Amino acid sequence: MTPTPALCKMLFIMRTGKIIDIECRCGFLLFRYFKAGKGRLIKCMIGRLSEDNVGLSGAPTFSRPLCPNCKKELGIIMMIHGEPALKLNQGTIKSIRI
Ligand SMILES: [Zn+2]
Repeated sequence: MTPTPALCKMLFIMRTGKIIDIECRCGFLLFRYFKAGKGRLIKCMIGRLSEDNVGLSGAPTFSRPLCPNCKKELGIIMMIHGEPALKLNQGTIKSIRI
């Protein structure tokens, strides 16, 4: 069996990335995200969430999900490379240490 490019990409991400907890500034655990590489988190591919306490999967494009606890805007859902992603509102998300 020949691995598909998508599978190769996935394996690469799994080797280099890690699961990080994304929290709102109010302390609510919004979701867990599989982040590839280092650096500041700007957007989250919805397909890479490992725990979704907000209900992001299935959210329509350009909707603005809210923190279920404090009702602040978390960002906006966009299509990036044909995949839904959440562009984070940096003011609402607690800064992430990697
Ligand atoms: Zn909150």
